Amino acid sequence: MSRAFQSSLPLARHRIDRDHAARRDDALLDARWASQEARVLVLHKGTALAAAGADPENWDGFGHRPTSRVRAGVALVSPAALPGVVVETILTDGIRLYLGLALGAAEGTTGGRDGGDGAEAEAEAVAAVTEQPVAGALPSGSPVFAVSLGDEQVEALATAAREAGEPEPVWINLRLVAADLGDSEAGAFTEALAMFNWHATHTHCPRCGAATLVESGGWVRRCPVQDIELFPRTDAAVIVGIVDEHDRLLLGSNAMWENNRFSLLAGFVEPGESLEAAAIREIAEESGVVIDDPEYLGSQPWPFPASLMVGFLAKVSPDHPPVLRPDGDEILALRWFTRDEIADPESGVLLPGSSSIARAIIERWYGGPLPEPEPA
Ligand SMILES: [Zn+2]
Repeated sequence: MSRAFQSSLPLARHRIDRDHAARRDDALLDARWASQEARVLVLHKGTALAAAGADPENWDGFGHRPTSRVRAGVALVSPAALPGVVVETILTDGIRLYLGLALGAAEGTTGGRDGGDGAEAEAEAVAAVTEQPVAGALPSGSPVFAVSLGDEQVEALATAAREAGEPEPVWINLRLVAADLGDSEAGAFTEALAMFNWHATHTHCPRCGAATLVESGGWVRRCPVQDIELFPRTDAAVIVGIVDEHDRLLLGSNAMWENNRFSLLAGFVEPGESLEAAAIREIAEESGVVIDDPEYLGSQPWPFPASLMVGFLAKVSPDHPPVLRPDGDEILALRWFTRDEIADPESGVLLPGSSSIARAIIERWYGGPLPEPEPA
């Protein structure tokens, strides 16, 4: 595995110690929630409350730079800053998910916002979010929680903002802004979204159907009838960059996408199957191409809703000359691309978004960042 590749994956970044040992200590979690350093990431229907000044309207999530130079950021607010009625609902009916302790900014960074456009943009971005503490600025050791609000609580939040003369809350989508976030924000948002997606689909025991109870800071659901613990799950999926003898890359167009959008082939790992076997099987099923020895590159969580994407590079088997045979079901078209073809601005080909591991694998094969299309 290449460390450089792994660190290029927007959703694989994190700056939180998950602090597993504290999860079962309710008194400790209460004290941390009540502390001045506590911060909470606020979700609503899978989106996160944005830091003041974020302008996600300028993002299309497919690798284009924003027209505005203000970066999107996730709000990490003090629990004490939330309206009382919202906090009350969280503590009585909701889930107060403990994400862990902030690790502070990584060594060699200036606050977690990576790859800036220069000092001026950085200063502008920081100025735009000074209303709210940003994750990159969280002191090491700050307890970080996440909550997911219903419509009524969101309305209460908006009302409180209006009454205080503050801007209306803005909600941002992880998939669209991931590459724009600092390490702390990206990690906290990914962890929180993955966990609340699990909670949303595991309200009842899979064995007996009883309503389950939330425990351990949100990391366990217990069936009270059988006294069994249910733990969060994640679904492994493999995604493979396939290269032929001419060093061309195979991309496919999925039935669920618009025409001209191409990406790498991918599929879920089946029970009782290794990652490598899944890669070989999925590629053969979707394309007819036989690959040898897929080489592990890296992985990133993909909480849409519950995947872990495991990336591989593979060569076409020399014993099986490739005959492209799209399965016609998931994959409608398959095409080998040269580097010139993939970078051609006139091709009309749409590539995967900047938050995806697919784009990172394509750029690894390409040898660097792909040229950005001109804004429409
Ligand atoms: Zn049960």
